Amino acid sequence: MEVFTVDGLPEIRPGDDIASLIAEQVSLREDDVVCVASTIVSKAEGRQANLTDFPATERAEEIAERIGEAAGETKDPRFAQAVLEESEELLLEFPMMLAVTRFGHITVNAGIDRSNIPDADLLLLPEDPTQSAKELHDGLGARVVVTDTSGRPFRYGQRGVALGWAGLPAARDWRGEYDRNGKELTATVQAVVDELAAASNLVTGEGGGGTPVAVVRDWEFGNHEGSDELFRTKEDDLIRPALRAWTDAQHDR
Ligand code: GDP
Ligand code: MN
Ligand code: MN
Repeated sequence: MEVFTVDGLPEIRPGDDIASLIAEQVSLREDDVVCVASTIVSKAEGRQANLTDFPATERAEEIAERIGEAAGETKDPRFAQAVLEESEELLLEFPMMLAVTRFGHITVNAGIDRSNIPDADLLLLPEDPTQSAKELHDGLGARVVVTDTSGRPFRYGQRGVALGWAGLPAARDWRGEYDRNGKELTATVQAVVDELAAASNLVTGEGGGGTPVAVVRDWEFGNHEGSDELFRTKEDDLIRPALRAWTDAQHDR
């Protein structure tokens, strides 16, 4: 397979038709996977915001003060307020805000970006990345993954992850297939959309490159069982209750 950036895209503004802008630059095939950085999806969907849009509540002030104290710098409580308003729930308030977004993705600061935005302080994640991916899928006639750069537990460094996808399943289910010794696989469900997002992120970069879209060509999902589950539910997550308990214990100290 091949992964290449789509060059020549302009700075994206609210209301822009990203599918048309991409289609002007590259001739796509039906089985291409077009990986689109959420940052331009957000820009097109008008998710730019300013700190003045988020007058801080008492809770935001407490959180910002605590994080700021530990970091040895002042944190703007309006940013904490923006994160609170973009979250369904906070799993950690300290030493960072780890948020569950409304669409189920768990990430630091609810994925709100402060870089690569020309006319605003903040860029919020798309409200419903799956819906965004569906619209792009319709407009492009190719498979789509909406990506973001996100940290992960246990390891240093960030990498690309999928927030929404259309035209392919989220995961390839290997259960019921066999290993080299004839042993049946019972657990492995491979999150292919995250792997595609990570491949895309390798070539799009994080800085001033101006390449928010990459095409993965000649990769085939193949004739396999799939699954559309990517974000664990509350009930099916071991880590969430542990983080919540840790956060509660901090409050009680
Ligand atoms: P995120 O991972 O979705 O948060 O996006 P990043 O901020 O890491 O940006 C990914 C890539 O898209 C980088 O190469 C940026 O330079 C580029 N980029 C961001 N916004 C725009 C835009 O509006 N137009 C273009 N052409 N490139 C952009
Ligand atoms: Mn981002
Ligand atoms: Mn990025």
